[in-house]
Amino acid sequence: MAHDDPAKTPKTQARLLIRNIGLLLSGDLKNPIFDADTVLAIDGKIASVGKQKDINPEGATLVIDAKGTTLAPGLIDSHVHPVAGDWTPRQNQIGWIDSYLHGGVTTMISAGEVHTPGRPKDLVGLKAMAIFAQRAFSAFRPGGVRIHAGAPVIEHGMVEEDFKDLASAGVTMLGEVGLGSVKDGATARQMVAWARKYGIQSTIHTGGPSIPGSSLIDKDIVLAADADVIGHINGGHTALPDDQIVALCEQSPRALEIVHNGNEKAALLTLRTARELKKLDRIILGTDSPAGSGVQPLGILRLISLLSSLADVPAEVAVCFATGNTARIRNLDCGLIEPGRAATFVMIDKAQHSPGKTVLESIQRGDLPGIGMVIIDGVVSAQRSRNTPPATTVPEIVKQ
Ligand SMILES: [Zn+2]
Repeated sequence: MAHDDPAKTPKTQARLLIRNIGLLLSGDLKNPIFDADTVLAIDGKIASVGKQKDINPEGATLVIDAKGTTLAPGLIDSHVHPVAGDWTPRQNQIGWIDSYLHGGVTTMISAGEVHTPGRPKDLVGLKAMAIFAQRAFSAFRPGGVRIHAGAPVIEHGMVEEDFKDLASAGVTMLGEVGLGSVKDGATARQMVAWARKYGIQSTIHTGGPSIPGSSLIDKDIVLAADADVIGHINGGHTALPDDQIVALCEQSPRALEIVHNGNEKAALLTLRTARELKKLDRIILGTDSPAGSGVQPLGILRLISLLSSLADVPAEVAVCFATGNTARIRNLDCGLIEPGRAATFVMIDKAQHSPGKTVLESIQRGDLPGIGMVIIDGVVSAQRSRNTPPATTVPEIVKQ
């Protein structure tokens, strides 16, 4: 065994202290604002959250002065279509994931690697591709962004054993049901149930075809399939008729995913309906990108601002849709500011010259916040964002 075996080398603990937090957004719908100004993280996990006087700063290896700015959980994009590395063939762009990091996105969920040129549709091929994507994105994190990928699209001919094989090979979710040959409720329901039996989560495409070759999935198919996530309930872009969207909100207990690359009016209808039904904990956000309209590094921030401003949702609640809600529904260890969770944060402030008095008010007016820092697993992944409007104040690294 080599002398530098990391398992045998005692390493010093990485202790991250963030102090002078002006506003702490928890990501938790039930209590979205914490009365705390300090966060301590040890080895990439939140250890304590509270007042500066109550948290022992000794031994901190990285100290950040938030300078009165706002700390929130890193944003989660519940619906992306990665292919390989930080390249997308959809609009032939490289570096797109790193650009999303500068939009506050620290975690991405694949809804299928469907843009892969020559995507295999035979059973062995599609399973191999899913396992490859799961492995490759586990090992490669552009800019530090954690990408949960390896999401096979179900095809006719799959049997229970296929789902068992996929699960034992490390696959944890299906790509959008409906993007493959299975487009009927009965077959989808059977395969979704097999997937669930082996711990594989599922998402279904909802609405009209996204691009040539994709197809309509209406309310009856969505309800029959009973996938864990009603993917882009506001269409991608073509939304279902209003009465079908309302019926899905009323009749399904599953997650209601609103996407940036969807119909904005249908997004507002979904949110208002969920609010009336007291199901705001089911709302999660994604971009559904890369897409025909390109990549949107600020897509999740834009959705938070759109929903907050046009549907009159407090900004701190809208933030939960892209953090704590998604973390709970997707079983992620990030997305909430609580001990034991990943020390993954986005630090924001009111954008320069926004008329809002506070960062929350600026979002409620429809402006985007400025990002001053992004921290993933206790490590600073970005400082002042190159993509958002400039934050009025940015945090400072005071000890490293
Ligand atoms: Zn879709």
